[in-house]
Amino acid sequence: MRDILAPESGRWRAFTSVFADVVEGAGYEFVIPPLMEDLGVFTRIGEATDVVTKEMYDFFDKGDRHVALRPEQTASVCRAFVQHRPLVPWKAWYSGPNFRYEKPQRGRFRQFDQVGIEVLGVDDPYLDVEVIALGWEFYRRLGLRQVELRINSLGEPEDRARYVDALQAHFAAAGDDLSDQSRDTLTKNPLRVLDSKRAVDAPFVASAPTIDQFWSDGAAAHFDTVQSGLRALEIPFVLDMKLVRGLDYYRHTTFEYAGGTLDSAQNALGGGGRYDGLVEDLGGPATPGIGFALGVDRTLLACDDEGVFPAPDRSVDVFVVDTAGGAAALAITAELRAAGISTDRSYENRSMKAQMKGANRSGATVAVIVGTDELDAGIVTVKPLRTGGQQASIARADLLTDLRSRLQEATS
Ligand code: AMP
Repeated sequence: MRDILAPESGRWRAFTSVFADVVEGAGYEFVIPPLMEDLGVFTRIGEATDVVTKEMYDFFDKGDRHVALRPEQTASVCRAFVQHRPLVPWKAWYSGPNFRYEKPQRGRFRQFDQVGIEVLGVDDPYLDVEVIALGWEFYRRLGLRQVELRINSLGEPEDRARYVDALQAHFAAAGDDLSDQSRDTLTKNPLRVLDSKRAVDAPFVASAPTIDQFWSDGAAAHFDTVQSGLRALEIPFVLDMKLVRGLDYYRHTTFEYAGGTLDSAQNALGGGGRYDGLVEDLGGPATPGIGFALGVDRTLLACDDEGVFPAPDRSVDVFVVDTAGGAAALAITAELRAAGISTDRSYENRSMKAQMKGANRSGATVAVIVGTDELDAGIVTVKPLRTGGQQASIARADLLTDLRSRLQEATS
């Protein structure tokens, strides 16, 4: 778990705000689920996934409730839907930290942030296209270019069940030639064996049956429409039959955005899919759902690699230097801030030299300087800091107007 300090922290805020622009522009409303839920909310995600069995921060609270810090937010959003029953379609977006007890490494942390969307109550392949396209548009707005969209369909639950049986038979036939870990995974979740990166498993993974052989007509038609919708929007994608995703509730469309600059083991910037069964599992009515979650930490690493989406400049416009005791700085700073001009100042009545050093360090566009003589004469000195240029004496009463025109010039 890390501290995120400036200037990186400003980048995080900007990240969320770009995301909000994209999804609120498509009718999604912001939801803030709690950080902690009853453990049962998350075990619905899938008893056989590492996220639930190995990685959860769960504990008993003082009221002896078995609770967990959320490892993701889809289950929380669905729980909120069951509890509050908003009108459908319910289009929600969220942002915030999740917790997984994983081995930390580049792009993998125990507290990590995600932004995401979920839509509940709509079973329309064009919605799948909308959801995928919003993630794509968000990466485009960040400036990322090396993102690969991978899509697959897990079919109907029955298709998936038949596929799982076929995988079970396929991998069981490999017997002891399969790695110990994969043999263990096979007993719990045969789909997950496809994720194995171990060399001994590679030939069996490569020769495994693929899900498309098990799609029902309905599932194939749904997926065809998704693909034609993406083509209509000119969003490039690759079909990835091995894309089965970690969580058990996915059905039909599943997708992932992979970062071209990241190590292949850690290159998923985000992903999602349709999960028509989760709301029902949480005690609600049968409700189709689809969504995605994008990792903030990893997406920003990809931005670093591509040299895009730098930290925004959070410097103030004006820095007030006051060598006459500080009372003038107090008044001027308050006046400028009230007028909407971002303003910082120095304290402790330091020397002119020390205060000017602070002014330069602040990154402010101009310094307003007040000394005893200026104060007596009713003037202040305005000194450009970033552009060079001459300093000028300005009547105190004209300060606001003067600063406004200087700042406007500096930004134009
Ligand atoms: P998931 O919820 O597992 O589908 O993950 C969606 C995205 O969240 C991934 O593609 C990552 O970008 C991010 N993510 C998941 N787990 C972690 C983690 N431990 N540290 C950093 N990012 C993560």
